[in-house]
Parts: sequence; C-alpha cells; structure tokens
Amino acid sequence: MESVVQPAPRSDKANLLDFDRAGMRAFFETLGEKPFRADQVLKWLYHHGASDVDQMTNLSKALRDKLSTETEIYVPAVETDHLSADGTSKWTFRLRGGNGIETVFIPEKNRGTLCVSSQIGCALDCSFCATGRQGFNRNLTTGEIIGQVWLATKLLAEKPATQNHRITNVVMMGMGEPLLNFNHLVRALNLMLDDNGYGLSKRRVTVSTSGVLPAMDKLKGTVDVSLAVSLHAPNDKLRTQLVPINEKYPINELMDACRRWVGTGDRKRHILFEYVMLDGVNDQPEHARELVKLLKGFPAKVNLIPFNPFPMSGYKRSPDQSVARFWKILNDNRIVATRRKTRGDDIEAACGQLAGQVNDRSKRELKFIKPRFGENL
Ligand code: SAH
Ligand code: SF4
Repeated sequence: MESVVQPAPRSDKANLLDFDRAGMRAFFETLGEKPFRADQVLKWLYHHGASDVDQMTNLSKALRDKLSTETEIYVPAVETDHLSADGTSKWTFRLRGGNGIETVFIPEKNRGTLCVSSQIGCALDCSFCATGRQGFNRNLTTGEIIGQVWLATKLLAEKPATQNHRITNVVMMGMGEPLLNFNHLVRALNLMLDDNGYGLSKRRVTVSTSGVLPAMDKLKGTVDVSLAVSLHAPNDKLRTQLVPINEKYPINELMDACRRWVGTGDRKRHILFEYVMLDGVNDQPEHARELVKLLKGFPAKVNLIPFNPFPMSGYKRSPDQSVARFWKILNDNRIVATRRKTRGDDIEAACGQLAGQVNDRSKRELKFIKPRFGENL
C-alpha cells in the first residue's frame, strides 16, 4: 500500500502526538532526558489535553524550551462541528495538505462511542462504500489518528452539559482500512489503551477490517484489542462483488484467520461480524441460512447495519421486514445478532457510513490513483 501513499506533509518539528509510550521514551532519551519525563508529557497531552508545552508546569523551563524548539503539538483543524437531533456529533477535520476526514461521536445511555478514521479515502473499493468511491490518498499519521480522540474530547467538553460526553469506546470504523495503516494504527491504539493516554479497556477499542489477513494475524501479536470483520456476504461470489479484497483473501481463509484470532490470548475472544443490509442483494432468507452455516459454532456476534445511501451508489437500504426476517433466521439458529440503529441520519453521521463529502478537494487529486491492495502484505 505504501507505494501509492502521498506522504503526510511534515513540519520540521516532531509532533508529540506521533509517539506512543515506547516512542516517547526513546525520543526523550535522544534529548538526554529520563523516561519518566516522557510519561509526564503523555499525561499532559491526554489527561489534561495540553496544547502547548508551556502548560506542562512540572517540566523545567529548560526542558520546555527544548521541547518548544524541537517539537510541536499538532492536531488537525476543526472545520465543521454538527450536532444531530439524537445527540450524535460529527466533525470534519482539515489536515495539513488540505484533505478532510470525518469523526463521529455516538452517545448512548451507558457509553459514548467515537468512530475514528484511519486513512484519507480507501483503496479497497467496496461497492457500497462512499469512502471507497473516493479512491485512496494517504495514510493518517499516528498524531492525526489519536488527534481525533484528542479533539473530540475537547469539543465534547464544550457541548451542553445535558449530553453524555464521555468517550468510553473507540471504533476504527471511520474512513479507511485501518489494517493497511498498520504502524500508525498500532501506535494510536497503544495511546488509547495506555494509562498515561486514554486508559480505555481493550474490550472497548475495536478495529474494523474488511479482511486484510496477514495484518489481522500481525495485529493479534502486537496489541490486544477487539476485532470487527466486515463480512457483508455469506459466499465468495457475492462477497467479491461487494468487498473486492475477497478475491485475494476469500471467505474460507478469512474464517481460518478469525479462528486463529479467537484461539489465542488470555481471554475468551469473539468477533463482531458486520453485515450491511442491501435491499435484494444480500438480505434474502437464503443468505441468512448460508450465514448460519458459515458461523455455526463460531464465537461470533453479527451486527446488521442499515445501508447508508449516497448519490449513485446503486443500492437501497433493506426494508425493515427483510432485516427482521434475516435477524430471525440467525436468532432461531442461535447466532447472536443485533440490528444497528441508524444514528445521526440527519447529518449523515452514522458510524461507519461516512459519506466523505468533505473530500471534494482531494477527489481531484485522487483521480489517477488506481485502487491497489495488499502489495506490501
Ligand atoms: N475499512 C474498514 C473500517 C471502515 S468501514 C472496514 O471495512 O471494516 C466501517 C464499516 O462501515 C464497515 O463494516 C463498512 O463495510 C461499513 N460501511 C461502509 N459503507 C457503508 C454504507 N454506505 N452503509 C453502511 N455501512 C457502510
Ligand atoms: Fe475501505 Fe472499509 Fe469502505 Fe471497504 S468498507 S472501501 S475497506 S473503508
């Protein structure tokens, strides 16, 4: 993938948000500083939301001066901030280089889920996905990924107190395929989990993938988070139409990788399978029955997602009766399934369904970048 990536425009200074704990300690070592200074800086950034090293009052003036000269605290610029009638917030953030990304916060009674983007555009070209239609521009940096959490935390704190503001869960279900931006993803996940970062539980941080198998295996040994797999079809013929990477990594190999994922670790894992309901395409009883066969006995939960239409998509959202019928077949066969509510419809903010209209500017640059995948994996 990296071969088609436009490098993130850089300033001469290191962005402090690009380092996870190990990276920050290593960086501080190069400055001739003790590792605990790195931990202090992480706490300033993520516990206190510091945006300037001068706020870091337990560091000496000399160290603050050194940090001011050699580093910056860079987060994307807030371009729009929409609050939907149901409490969902959607932001567009403008990055250096001019591209936009979207981030969504979905408050519920006992939790608040932030839906985070990992790339500008996506090369995997799933036929029902607005992000995929844009083509691929570049990977986000660690700072641009964790910066979405940093910004959302700040922006939510400014909203009316009547609303639930706390980010308890992060799902990597915004724009892009997170596993094709592996190193930046992992560093950002480390910061979400780290006590000096956001201290989120590993069960509450979810990476969603369309099935980049080598990276799925690699993730398992690298950082302990939850996994969601975008299945969307129960057989190869249909899945290849909807999720083209299926041609490279077909369903039987995907399921083997899923078995490897659940089969290790110090806890009983399960996988969330996402299934976008497309009217007359993958929502018929025979698809449900095929799905039952595929998932029988597997520690799976299926999330039936309402399709979020966009211009020229060529698909329609499945009617409620089709979704109910599909759900019943799964349920009757003891496959745990939930129907995702549509949230933030009025601002097109439903998580994982980001329309990406913000990227109009980048689209022009994207025209000649042909989707390619898996080359470096
Ligand atoms: N690339 C990753 C994560 C981002 S997409 C992946 O594909 O899993 C997050 C989820 O939103 C995926 O399950 C994706 O299939 C789904 N999605 C994409 N476009 C959608 C649309 N128009 N309506 C509903 N869900 C969509
Ligand atoms: Fe990329 Fe996910 Fe959209 Fe597919 S569904 S094009 S993998 S962002």
